[in-house]
Order: sequence, then C-alpha cells, then structure tokens
Amino acid sequence: MLRAERSGNTLLLAACLVVAGFGNLGFFSRVLAAFPPQGGNLAALLSLAMVFFALNVLLFGAFAFGRLTKPVLTALLLVSSVSAYFLDSFGVVLDRDMLRNVVQTDLHEALDLITPRLLAYFVLLGVVPSLLLWRVPLAWRGWRRELLERAGLLGICLLAIAVLAVSFGGFYASFLRAHKSLRSHANPAYLLASAAKFAREGMMPLPNAQAAIIAADARIPAEDTERELILLVIGEAARADRFALNGYARDTTPRLREAGAISLDNVWACGTSTAVSVPCMFSPKGMARFEPKQADSEENLLDVLRRAGANVLWLDNNSDSKGAAARVPYRSFKTPAANTVCDSECRDEGMLVPLQEYIDGHPRGDIVIVLHQMGNHGPAYYKRYPEAFEKFRPVCRSKDLGECSREEIGNAYDNAILYTDHFLGKAIELLRRNDASFRTALVYLSDHGESLGEGGLFLHGLPRAVAPDSQLRVPAIFWFGSRFGDIDRQALLRERDRRFSHDNLFHTVLGLLEIRTSWYKPELDILEAYRRNIPDRS
Ligand SMILES: [Zn+2]
Repeated sequence: MLRAERSGNTLLLAACLVVAGFGNLGFFSRVLAAFPPQGGNLAALLSLAMVFFALNVLLFGAFAFGRLTKPVLTALLLVSSVSAYFLDSFGVVLDRDMLRNVVQTDLHEALDLITPRLLAYFVLLGVVPSLLLWRVPLAWRGWRRELLERAGLLGICLLAIAVLAVSFGGFYASFLRAHKSLRSHANPAYLLASAAKFAREGMMPLPNAQAAIIAADARIPAEDTERELILLVIGEAARADRFALNGYARDTTPRLREAGAISLDNVWACGTSTAVSVPCMFSPKGMARFEPKQADSEENLLDVLRRAGANVLWLDNNSDSKGAAARVPYRSFKTPAANTVCDSECRDEGMLVPLQEYIDGHPRGDIVIVLHQMGNHGPAYYKRYPEAFEKFRPVCRSKDLGECSREEIGNAYDNAILYTDHFLGKAIELLRRNDASFRTALVYLSDHGESLGEGGLFLHGLPRAVAPDSQLRVPAIFWFGSRFGDIDRQALLRERDRRFSHDNLFHTVLGLLEIRTSWYKPELDILEAYRRNIPDRS
C-alpha cells in the first residue's frame, strides 16, 4: 500500500504539536499553578497554549524545510523528549551551567542519569514520533510553491501571536514580568537559547579539572554485599547549644528525639565560614593542614567514594558546594524552577522530593547523597522557616539585627532550628522507607556555628584563633537504620561528650561504607570504637 504524501508544513505542525503538548507538561502545570484556570484566566490560558504552539512553529519552521525537514524535526523530538524528562521529574532546567555539567560528565556519570523513566520519555516522546515521521513520504511541489506555503504558515503564526498578545496584553505582561522563571521551563526553546549561549562562550574548563588523586587504592571489598544508603546533611550556621538534644531548655528537636537520633555534644568546626568549613570537612588534610586556596587542587572524600563504586549526588539549597562537589553530579535547589517546595523562599525539604526516584533508579552500589542546607543562614533567620514553624515569639523581622532585641533574634533563630529538625525528621522517614533494602544512616553536621549577640558579636566568620565557641561548636547527629545493628548506639550515646571535629567526617564516612584504603584512619572514625564484632551474618 502506498502511503499518502504529506507536505512539509503538515509534518512541522504535527511535530510541534507533540513537543508543545506532551513535551511541556512541566511548563503547563507550573503555568496553571501560577494562574489558576478560572474566570478571565481561562481564555488567556487558552491563548497562551496557542501562542506557545505558534512560537514553536515559527522557530522550527525556519529550519525544517525541504531536505532538512525530517532531520531537523527528528532532532527537535529527540532533544525535547530528554529535556522534558528533566523538567518534569526534577524541575531541572537545562541551562548553561547544566550543559557544562553534561559536557564534562564522564561516561560513568552519564550512565547514572539513565533511568527507566528517562528511557520511557525518550522512546514515547522522541523515538516513536520520529519513526512515524520517517514512514510518511514528504511531498515536494517545487521551490516556488513550497516557499510560498511555508511563508504563508509562518505569517499566520505571527499574526495569531500578535492578535492574541494584544487581546490579552495584561496577562502576558504579568506572565513575562512576574513569572520569569516560568519561561525557563519552555521546552525546548530555553534549552536552545542556553546551548547558543554555551557555544558562544566556549567550554570553560573546570578550574579544578586536574585535581591530584587521593586514595587511589579505595575499594569496597567483594564480601560487602549489603548496600549502604547514607544521607549526609551539611547544616548551615547551626549552634550545638540550640539543640534540645544537647540540653537546650526549649524543645527545638522534637522529631529527632522521637526518631531516636544520637546527638554528639562536643564537636568542633574546621572554620567559621561556609567557604572554609565545607571544603575542609571533605578534605583528608584535617584542619591543621587545610588551606582553602589549595582545596581545589586535590580530590576529596566524594571522589574517593565514587572511585570505590558508590553513587554520589550533591543537592544544594545553599550558595554552592564551595568546590567540594566539583567532580560529582550536582543540583541546585535555590529556585522554584528546580525546587518544588517554595513559599517566600525555596525550602530545604524540597531536596528530599526527587530522592526516592534517584534511589530506585540506581539498583546497584552504595548511595551517598549530600544535602547542603540553607539551615540557619543569617541574618534574616525569620525567612528560614515556613510560617507553621514560628513557635517561639516575638521574632525579629529585620535583616538589621540592631533593630531587634536579643530575645527576638534568638526566637527567630530557634524557629529555624525547629524547621531543620522537621527536615531531618523527613529525611529519616525516607531512610526508614528504604530500610528493607539498605543499611541506612543519616549523618548531620553543621559547617560552623553562629554568634547571637554574646559579647556584642553577631553572625560568624571570625578568625578561628579569636572566634568564640558559639561560632565553632557545631551540632553533629547520627541516626541508624535497623541493619546498622553492629554499631553499639547505647555506648555511643553514653560517650556523646567525647571531643570530635570536622576532621573525623572523612574517616567516619569511609567507615560507614566499609571502604578499604590506606588513607582510612580507624582512630579518626567516630564510630569505629562502637562497632561490635557481630558474628558472621551469612
Ligand atoms: Zn555556613
């Protein structure tokens, strides 16, 4: 049977319909959240869908012509299908930085990104429509007629856009002004704009691309067949003495207490700022030898974990990883485009949302997920928690702490700790749900403390030598799932005032994953003294 020929215009319209409709579920669901479909909005939303479709036709109609029709439309379908997966699943916008990440990703990491759901998107939205496209014979009725018809189609699109934009002017003005982030979800227009930017700027080499290798001998022994799932939470500006688990008079940690978490009460930070403490925590050097300037030139804990075969992921709701995650998969959760839990600002718990899918998508190897919190970032503590967590009142509602009493500042600060307790409680819930298939553990450690008016000092960042204890003494919390039965929790709890520091993190995490390397020092592993030799489990 001879198949009916179709014009280039028909194929173009069909491909754009697939992309505009099915490839943009994330975009349209965000639009509907910003503009609920009721009353006057309804017609405007309908017009937006039409404008969106017309823009796609305009954009691709300029290239998908003649012999280029099928190759261009195929590329459009395949690229949009992958981009749609990231937008719908993670709210990850494929911007310039993401493209740089993708380009610099090694094969191992690229394979990490391939999940069954991604394949489903690729096949259903990319491969299947492309195959259908190639099965239809393309009609060609001479340059003159084809050009005229294409010009006619693009003209109609332009006209439609103009008419709709004028008719719903107010809606479009508010759409473009107040909801800037929505535009970045338009698939694949935004991706193409980013790619153009990326190509223009050239590929910037990572500043630390040639970091010196450490612990090259790291490996997980073959007899370790149980999989570990570790959530490593890096806190922000949290003080140990504001945690009820450490004896604070206010109940700032109800969920951690309920979960049976173990809080160490004598743990000291490497530095008094995020930029020093975070890279130092992951470095094998220890605070005595750590130099922030040299941190980028040497690998860190995360590189060792990855080399040993663990799946490593860094999620960030703070400024960034300060170089610690330079060579591991990284996602920022700072904007509503990436984080699904945002009110006045994007919340730490948004980082937990995509984790179950990530865990399910990695059926082999240990998993270590770093969650870098916004936590108690000052001075606007009152912004660091949703309204429901405003338990201690009155609170300071100014960034200028001088305008508030110490009591008001402390109240806002404690509310933010209460929200961190809630966040950690939810992280533990996630681990509990995975307890049957993993040895699960939560490790929480703050990067530094905070001054809250003692001695007239506020915030943090004083040189270590002169910094008050409040900036250096940090909360450190462990929670273990049922399969970590080899750790004697009662003994650890009894000795919770033993002195430790950020220097212990490197070795403690290696110990949790049972990684063998000559760089591991058992005497620096906080948990080593509490491991019971359980008779062979087999
Ligand atoms: Zn910090």
